[in-house]
Amino acid sequence: MAGAPTEVHQRIDTEVARMSAALIDLSRDLHAHPELAMQETRAVQRLLTFLADDFEVTQPYGGLNTAFRADAGDATPVIAFLAEYDALPGIGHGCGHNLIAAGAVGAATALRRAAPEIPGTVACIGTPGEEGAGGKVLLLEAGAFADIDAALMFHPSDRTWPIRHATASVHLTLEWHGVAAHAAGSPQDGRSALAAVIQFFTGVDALRQFVPETSRMHGIIADGGQAANVIPDYTRAEFTVRAATTAELDDLRERVIAVAHAAAAATGTTVSITAGLVYRERKNNHTIADRVAHHLRRQGVTVDQPVLRGGTGSSDIGNVSLALPAIHPYIQVMDAGTPTHSRAMAEAVIQPRAHTAMTQMATALACAGADLLADPDLFAQVRDEFATRGPDLAAG
Ligand SMILES: [Zn+2]
Ligand SMILES: [Zn+2]
Repeated sequence: MAGAPTEVHQRIDTEVARMSAALIDLSRDLHAHPELAMQETRAVQRLLTFLADDFEVTQPYGGLNTAFRADAGDATPVIAFLAEYDALPGIGHGCGHNLIAAGAVGAATALRRAAPEIPGTVACIGTPGEEGAGGKVLLLEAGAFADIDAALMFHPSDRTWPIRHATASVHLTLEWHGVAAHAAGSPQDGRSALAAVIQFFTGVDALRQFVPETSRMHGIIADGGQAANVIPDYTRAEFTVRAATTAELDDLRERVIAVAHAAAAATGTTVSITAGLVYRERKNNHTIADRVAHHLRRQGVTVDQPVLRGGTGSSDIGNVSLALPAIHPYIQVMDAGTPTHSRAMAEAVIQPRAHTAMTQMATALACAGADLLADPDLFAQVRDEFATRGPDLAAG
């Protein structure tokens, strides 16, 4: 396998360099027009315009209006580059999905153009609604990844990590219903939904000592009532529960839900709970991730040593990664310590530094894709690892 760049890797380098101005334009354009989860119609049109020359396009895809699939080739294996393009409420592209999207279409296009002679199919799948709506979970359930042999994507970050752990998570919306009354005139007639939501947060705090260190329970009171002199008859909490594995999450979610019911019982109110889609823990394919790290280093990128410890987020790539070989490496686009989901990140992800990192990662993903398609032994190793290795879990 390649140590120094081979001819195909050099051709990929050249293709990405040739299209880098167009990729940066695309990234800037997506950034300037942020669209929330499952509403990314403009982004999809822009990405498909980019892909239309080289790929056969299917859109909508997998039952989702803002999902798409682009294919070049009709042989196996099929490798897919995944694009995310949803933004965050209030802060736009504070998670840098403009870079993910432009990098994914860049990787797919560069690989197909640079190596048309390599057998196999190159696909680019547009996966909407990563921020809470679980686009990849829904696509997976719809069979949209059924013929995919490996899925490659990346995320911008404050570090460059080929692999990273991610927790399983679920979002809960909890609503308490009580009885309104004048808070001074007739409080005895009221049943406070505010008292219930306060009890809930206090009860969850009482759980904290008795859960694994890798678990997280966090949320907000999104509606705490309307007036100080009225006993609130309605309150709502938005809450996320996370744990190292889906099995631990299932257990912890039941304990949190029991607290919500206890809070209702204690206050004479009722509670209704709506759960979102479960994002599962991540199983990185180290064989593919090692190829990406190699191709990053080849371009002079410093690759940090993975640290499978400490806090982390969750993503719907976890579900995909448990179903087929997948990677989700990170590339540094901003100073270490810059928070994600922040205005600082939204600002960082359109700077020249971020766009340089994006093109380096697009090159590395495309080169890793070329390695997979050109080397059946490598692909066998990928499949063997997938069959035998578990998810990457954080040490406590
Ligand atoms: Zn995010
Ligand atoms: Zn993100």
